[in-house]
Amino acid sequence: MTGQPADILTIDGLSKSFSISGGLFSRPLELHALTDISFSVRQGETLGIVGESGCGKSTLGRCILQLLAPDEGRVLWLGEDITRLPAEAMRRRRRDLQIIFQDPLASLNPRLTVGEIVADPLRTLMPELNEAERRRRVLAMMEAVGLLPEMINRYPHEFSGGQAQRIGIARALITEPKLIVCDEPVSALDVSIQAQILNLLADLKDKFGLTLIFISHNLSVVRHVSDRILVLYLGRIVELADGDALYGDPKHPYTQALLTAVPIPDPKRARARSIDALVGEIPSPIFPPSGCAFRTRCRYAVALCAEQRPPLETVEGGRLVACHRWREIEREAAAG
Ligand code: SF4
Repeated sequence: MTGQPADILTIDGLSKSFSISGGLFSRPLELHALTDISFSVRQGETLGIVGESGCGKSTLGRCILQLLAPDEGRVLWLGEDITRLPAEAMRRRRRDLQIIFQDPLASLNPRLTVGEIVADPLRTLMPELNEAERRRRVLAMMEAVGLLPEMINRYPHEFSGGQAQRIGIARALITEPKLIVCDEPVSALDVSIQAQILNLLADLKDKFGLTLIFISHNLSVVRHVSDRILVLYLGRIVELADGDALYGDPKHPYTQALLTAVPIPDPKRARARSIDALVGEIPSPIFPPSGCAFRTRCRYAVALCAEQRPPLETVEGGRLVACHRWREIEREAAAG
């Protein structure tokens, strides 16, 4: 016994591509959104998933919840493969697995009242509840997320972005799920509201014993809420580590570059770090670079990086890193 919480979710070799039009006289092109993704999520933890826009974060969240069908690989929920379950069987599991979307107002049906929006998952996933019980649960959940009971008959357009996200959170929590995928839940909100919503999510996680997958392009936000952090680049895992280890000692050059965008108070460290700043655009996932996908932006790249894809290695503390040269880079940095 290690005392470590059990895995609640396991992703095993998951890949997802999209076929997109290559033009009138060309064959369709293949967009490689995710390739060979494997990791586990522990009961009660918050796993952050970070990377730039277009790295596959949201596709991964949707494949986990079976809102998108992966091409290859499995999603094991509480040990059961849910990847290709028939629709009715998946509907029963859906009570446990919910999502909070990025744009709260866009994700709420403008023709429904708050009460109807929050009650909607109960109608489809817990049809055994009667009207009175549904209303009781909706009011209790509204209170839990900081909405007043008299708001129950109002419509989404009457709310601010922060309040609308509270409605989205209430809708996600109403079926008492075990795991919630939070897909950029604060990136559409004013900075002043972001902290309120992050604190609310942390409180609700404790109160309801939730496990969270927190997707964001913003490492500062992810750091605030995550126990462990998975870094994605062009649809592949490049690093996975405990939050403190990843922020204090990033191993992969891409993680190091992403961290240069995170404000730190020490100006000396900030100056030293700026040398790793991320340059250039993320390459097209239709034509990914050979070998290491990060090589076109990596200042440590050598010939080997174009020839061979670096394997995802398990290093100390169960950390995962995919880079041919991370040890060498670390030695060079230590030598000054
Ligand atoms: Fe950079 Fe090479 Fe490591 Fe890729 S494998 S991150 S290109 S050093």
